[in-house]
Amino acid sequence: MMSEKLLDKIIAESGQPVNLCYQCRKCSVGCPMVDEFDFPPNMVMRMVQLGLESELLQSRAIWMCVSCETCGSRCPNEIRIAPVMDVLRAECLRQGVTPADPATVALHTSFIESIKQFGRVHEATMLLKYKLKSKKFTDDLEVGLKLFLKGKIPIMPRKSKNLGRIKEIFTRAGY
Ligand code: SF4
Ligand code: SF4
Repeated sequence: MMSEKLLDKIIAESGQPVNLCYQCRKCSVGCPMVDEFDFPPNMVMRMVQLGLESELLQSRAIWMCVSCETCGSRCPNEIRIAPVMDVLRAECLRQGVTPADPATVALHTSFIESIKQFGRVHEATMLLKYKLKSKKFTDDLEVGLKLFLKGKIPIMPRKSKNLGRIKEIFTRAGY
């Protein structure tokens, strides 16, 4: 894909003026997740400008962003990187690119599917789906059991009373 095309797509879908980024790095200095990224947020912006699509879609950075919005509040050009990461994540899934961190993607998709099904997160079904997708059957069992015994993981789901409207949002977003 031509660099201009990627840049245009990201600007159109995220609503963020990525073209204005001039590499001041204020986003990366404040990002709480930067140590987990393979490319810091300012570099992600540069890669978008340069059209490095396959490198971005295979990157760990797009899945490690927790959408805390710290970067957006620090950027002198008011660029919010979280929506940019959202577009890149969606594109990664749409193109069927093997993600850099499959377990994070398994958690991400299990969370979204739970919201779509119940209108809110139901931890038990979300965790079951996550375990099946990630095949990490024994990880965190002790913590999970403690939470279950404290009643923090209810067995029966409760649907949101706004489920219809939430499903509408998913439909509009093409899920
Ligand atoms: S929104 Fe993402 S990229 Fe921005 S500071 Fe938070 S974790 Fe870092
Ligand atoms: S803070 Fe804004 S202008 Fe500076 S590097 Fe980050 S995205 Fe670019």
